[in-house]
Amino acid sequence: MTDSRSDKTGAGEICLRPHHLLCLMGFQGKGYSAAFVKRMTEVSALLKRHQDTLVYLRSGVDDLCAACPHKTDEGVCDHDSLVYGYDERTLGFLHLCEGTAAFDEWMSQVRESLTADVRTAICGDCAWTEECLLVQSITQEKTYGH
Ligand code: SF4
Repeated sequence: MTDSRSDKTGAGEICLRPHHLLCLMGFQGKGYSAAFVKRMTEVSALLKRHQDTLVYLRSGVDDLCAACPHKTDEGVCDHDSLVYGYDERTLGFLHLCEGTAAFDEWMSQVRESLTADVRTAICGDCAWTEECLLVQSITQEKTYGH
């Protein structure tokens, strides 16, 4: 963790659960609902345009889940145990700590450790594997590049 990080969400920051860093890399305009796709598209475009956007990384429902039909009225994901596993393994395999950093800083760390085998270990059973651009690109390379 670098000195620039904190454990709080500040104004203008985006909150992401750890495995959603990978989902954003693999997003190709498909998702659970039109509202969810719209949110993914907006957040993805914002982070591509402004890679210095601060991202508060922590397990649990996030700013993408906010538009997801799987988010319950109690404010949790109805696939909670599955997706918490993805979050835990993203943190562990990619050597990330929860906290706040610029989006491009998170992505640099992700790319340092992400291989096809690591991706499979993190979320190999994801129902979106067939549609995921990350899966398609990473299987061509030993390590995911820029
Ligand atoms: S399925 Fe769960 S973790 Fe994934 S976006 Fe929806 S609420 Fe969030």
